[in-house]
Amino acid sequence: MATQKTDVVIVGVGAVGGILAAELGKAGMKVIGLERGPRLTTQDFSALDELRYFQRQELRPSSKRQPVTWRPDAKTNAKPLPILNYGNQAGGGTVHYGALSWRFHEDDFRARSHTIERYGASAIPADSSLTDWPLTYADLEPFYDQAEYELGVSGRAGNLQGRKTDAGNPFEAPRRREYPLPALLPDQSGVIFAAAGQKLGYHPFSSPRAILSQPYQGRAGCTYCGFCQSFGCHMAAKSSILVTKLPEADATGNFKLLTGTMCYRVNSDNSGRVTGVSYYAADGSDNTIEADLVILATFIYDNTRLLLLSKTAKFPNGLANSSGQLGKHLMAHIGARVFVAFDDRYVNIYMGPSAQKHSLDDFNADNFDHSGMKFVRGAQLSVTPADLEAGPIGASISMNPPPGIPRWGAAYRDFLAKYFARYAAFIAQTENLPYADQTVDLDPHVRDQYGMPAPRLTYDWRRPNEVARIEFLLNKLEELGRASGATHVWRSPTGSGAPGAHHEGGTRMGSDPKLSVVNRYGQSWDIPNLFVIGSSTFPTMSGFNPTLTIQALAYSSADAIVNRYKKSPGALV
Ligand SMILES: Cc1cc2nc3c(=O)[nH]c(=O)nc-3n(C[C@H](O)[C@H](O)[C@H](O)COP(=O)(O)OP(=O)(O)OC[C@H]3O[C@@H](n4cnc5c(N)ncnc54)[C@H](O)[C@@H]3O)c2cc1C
Repeated sequence: MATQKTDVVIVGVGAVGGILAAELGKAGMKVIGLERGPRLTTQDFSALDELRYFQRQELRPSSKRQPVTWRPDAKTNAKPLPILNYGNQAGGGTVHYGALSWRFHEDDFRARSHTIERYGASAIPADSSLTDWPLTYADLEPFYDQAEYELGVSGRAGNLQGRKTDAGNPFEAPRRREYPLPALLPDQSGVIFAAAGQKLGYHPFSSPRAILSQPYQGRAGCTYCGFCQSFGCHMAAKSSILVTKLPEADATGNFKLLTGTMCYRVNSDNSGRVTGVSYYAADGSDNTIEADLVILATFIYDNTRLLLLSKTAKFPNGLANSSGQLGKHLMAHIGARVFVAFDDRYVNIYMGPSAQKHSLDDFNADNFDHSGMKFVRGAQLSVTPADLEAGPIGASISMNPPPGIPRWGAAYRDFLAKYFARYAAFIAQTENLPYADQTVDLDPHVRDQYGMPAPRLTYDWRRPNEVARIEFLLNKLEELGRASGATHVWRSPTGSGAPGAHHEGGTRMGSDPKLSVVNRYGQSWDIPNLFVIGSSTFPTMSGFNPTLTIQALAYSSADAIVNRYKKSPGALV
């Protein structure tokens, strides 16, 4: 067993771990990053290998070696999820993500208060743990700005210092300045979606993405090749942590990355502090790092699992869990989907898919009046050139032909031959409410390749509020489909109650130590030298993809650690 000493150990060097590594390294702190996967390079992605990256999803964790199990309720046996939505290499999910980079709305940060003010407390389902965040949009705005400019995000402002514009998203919260890069060019599906939205009086716009529309900071602009989501970018035009923050961290001379290392425990003494972490190295050896500061940045499953596995006599229900909130309030996006297919136009989904998505925000958050409706909160609506995004999930027309078309034989062949290059999918990415009984815990029956119990999700989105929302949104998507002039418009099944994309919760942040695991900086209420960063800390989820928000939170935590904690280690308030 080897033991090393350092100022800071960061477990997981992905979307947020990479930011913390660079920012703390720049402040002179000695940082070791533990990352279970390899460190790949842009050259590794020059083979645009659809079998490896798209069908086999090689950049995601293997569901056999790193299983995460799911059951709809506590009475049912959990089974491994077939596909996992996060990273497995230095840079984490940002290496192969779609790079949609959203700021949350102002009311996303105060969903509970806002709902009560506008509709009364009875509008919130009695069993929901809907709450406010311990910080506001205004608190996070400088860090959103820092993330957009340091990483490189392309888009068009919809609200510049309170001045609204239809060129961008008029529902966005005020931003201090324009995006650093102009919006990406639309593809056919974006053109179709935008025209349909405008026809109905809605406000479509080009979705912001951490993909360079022009050369920026020494990196080339996007060539619209189409190999984005599920692939690493062979041009380095995708602003992944691999090509943005890791080189910055290296340049500090204070950062050491240990790849192929699997953390299995956070170590602590009886003084109310953590002392470091233990991990298995690639050669199978069992090692320890002693550190003044431990930062968990492993995504929600291991952020929760490691605390549960690190229980002590003082914390018998999981480290840093005196509130009893650890593992609770799991949330996920559900993608309601409507297909549109045209007799008279090609959509050509193989030209630049994923880089050029369009969205509309008219039915997201509380951007529309919910009076008289049986649900609160909404969804971001968008278009996706479906097949290349769908991957092995099968959310494509080949798996979901319209009613009346069989799934085999001549009629199926003829349908696909005609429509495969003439369709798109309109999608609603829903903001589902938090519920305390939706949980992450340790599976007593399934273990991973290291013999650790798998993270187990207990979750079923089919609650009355969520079902009513999905029905409303599917109707809106069908309305948009008809307005697009499509010959065929049909719904894709909404499926089982399984969690969809972007899992959140498990180590909730809050302003009350009795009701949350960490404070607004991700610092444990119980153990001041332990931080937990990422979407596991989200109190609520928003209809937007989470990554820019967790990255802004990572910058905010880094700022608090460097400018306050480092000078006076202790609880940050
Ligand atoms: C295909 C795909 C598309 C996506 N598209 C978008 C999008 O368009 N927009 C958006 O906002 N989000 C998107 N996401 C989600 C996004 O990738 C995540 O929100 C983000 O990566 C989470 O950041 P993180 O730092 O918390 O975790 P990650 O980026 O996953 O990083 C965590 C790292 O920790 C490592 N790790 C885990 N456990 C351990 C351990 N015990 N020991 C050592 N290392 C460990 C992992 O290998 C990983 O590299 C997408 C995800 C996928 C999979």
